[in-house]
Amino acid sequence: MPKQLEAPPALEFNRIAGNGNAATGAAQLPAAALELAAAMPMPTVTPDPSLLDRKIIHCDCDCFYAAVEMRDDPSLQGKPLAVGGRADRRGVVATCNYEARRYGVHSAMSTAQAQKRCPQLIVLPPAMEKYRIASRQILSIYRDYTELVEPLSLDEAYLDVSATPQCNGSATLIAQEIRRRIADTVGITASAGIAPNKFVAKIASDWNKPDGQMVVRPHEVDAFVAALPVGKLHGVGRVTAARLNKLGAQTCADLRGWSLLHLQQHFGKFGERLHGLCRGIDLREVCPSRERKSVSVEETYVTDLPDLQACRQALPELLVRLAERIARAKAQDSIGKLFIKIRFDDFQRTTVECSGSVLDQETFSQLLETGYGRRRRPVRLLGAGVGVAEAREQQQSGLFDPQN
Ligand SMILES: [Mg+2]
Repeated sequence: MPKQLEAPPALEFNRIAGNGNAATGAAQLPAAALELAAAMPMPTVTPDPSLLDRKIIHCDCDCFYAAVEMRDDPSLQGKPLAVGGRADRRGVVATCNYEARRYGVHSAMSTAQAQKRCPQLIVLPPAMEKYRIASRQILSIYRDYTELVEPLSLDEAYLDVSATPQCNGSATLIAQEIRRRIADTVGITASAGIAPNKFVAKIASDWNKPDGQMVVRPHEVDAFVAALPVGKLHGVGRVTAARLNKLGAQTCADLRGWSLLHLQQHFGKFGERLHGLCRGIDLREVCPSRERKSVSVEETYVTDLPDLQACRQALPELLVRLAERIARAKAQDSIGKLFIKIRFDDFQRTTVECSGSVLDQETFSQLLETGYGRRRRPVRLLGAGVGVAEAREQQQSGLFDPQN
């Protein structure tokens, strides 16, 4: 029986192919290939050292859609709950809570099958607009720590916090603070993995789920990865994992015994990637997914702001945060427009903008008045932002003053 890591109960990964089905004996290479391998110099990969010493957080909310539903209806807590399509319409489970998982329900399972496993399962249709609102709040929290945020889904992202000054630059403390803020602001829990690269961070975020985090320090990566089943590697799906198992590799430690040539023979170009991954090397950078066209902040208020006066009073705090964010994005010199976003208590929203290159409270106050005048209702969300010009044409310095 190969040594397998104990999967945490909440693991969302695919079942590890070949688990418990130990194939033995590594595939034999023909003698000619071995000779060739010996004759060929090993290609030396010299990665940029800065890529080996990064602080990457993979942050992931716990059963996101279901968590939002339980937050909004506490009577659902403690009961098996799934969010997804209807069984009679061949729907599938998008997310389910931990109570449902105990019955063997999991995401991507057909709702009909899920209800067979758990007859008392409550199935709610997805309320995407609600999840998007929560998602924006979460992303906004992430972006308070770094511009290098790469969202993977509504609730999940990689953050490169290598250059983040907050929390004394401690990625562990940053992850803790982010998770606490998500709990306080959004009302749901998140888990985090902290590591020097993306794939280890992603595995680590699952380790202490829900509502937990795990750090894999640079010197721990080697041992951590060695013990991983090959199916955990980034890009290794069920089929590849089964093939690797059949060839005799259950864990990354097994895989390390294989030469680069051997891996390339079996897996082509992906062989090279496997060669690095099983040694804990993953140089992929955290890429913010799209070009930034605006920089903004927003706040959803616990109690709706009742009138224009209350909105005006809330403005300075928003503008301080906006100024900080603009500074971090180094966008001071490329501001092309200013805007205010308002969401009223009836969920109608409006945006008012004007051209401008200066973060000026008076201008924002006028935009607010215009926007508020459109509905004159209590306000649940207020946002302030600037449009950023594509090219940095406006070379104006000294205009930006957060004290304005
Ligand atoms: Mg999630």
